[in-house]
Amino acid sequence: MKLSNAKFYKSVYKYEECPRLQQPEVAFSGRSNVGKSSLINRITKNKKLARTSNTPGRTQSLNYYNIDDKFYLVDLPGYGFANVPKKVKDDWSELIDSYLNYRENLIGIVQIIDARHKPSKEDKMMVEWLKASGLSFLIAATKVDKISNNKRAQQKKVIFKELALDKNDNFTFFSAQTGEGSKDIYNYLESLLQL
Ligand code: GDP
Repeated sequence: MKLSNAKFYKSVYKYEECPRLQQPEVAFSGRSNVGKSSLINRITKNKKLARTSNTPGRTQSLNYYNIDDKFYLVDLPGYGFANVPKKVKDDWSELIDSYLNYRENLIGIVQIIDARHKPSKEDKMMVEWLKASGLSFLIAATKVDKISNNKRAQQKKVIFKELALDKNDNFTFFSAQTGEGSKDIYNYLESLLQL
């Protein structure tokens, strides 16, 4: 699967603004600053597609990217930011809740977490929701280049335990720096889209 023909389509600030589309959507979700933009840029081989920044919680929109007219990659606004006005958080919740609960085009989620840390409370909530929803999902634990090879197995155990995952759940380590894990993400998307 090639994602190199990705084009920005539109930003959506209210659920009602979601476009009417034929194609399915795969959403990318994760805590603010987890490395979601870097992951998207890496797998689409486009360094500037999703904005990478260190200003948590600035983007409160769903960003739609058209992938070869085959499907849309939907970048969800990052969660878990501190020092953000309540109104911003409330708007975020409303947008995400509606999108996740009602969007018929949505066929799967790539849930991004930090390979170095114990999953956060919000990460756990997201994964609990994903399991309950019956939607397909892949957990991508990013920034794995920052942990040593012999710590990996231990970290994977912690993540599986904290998120109550089992061997049937889709999981991959990822690094935007080395590209490790890209193939697992392509394979996952391919299986979802049955290409
Ligand atoms: P976002 O807020 O989730 O979109 O996060 P960004 O993609 O902007 O990344 C946040 C910070 O983490 C930036 O300084 C990135 O350079 C860094 N980063 C993201 N992914 C990786 C990775 O795989 N490895 C390393 N070492 N750093 C990363």
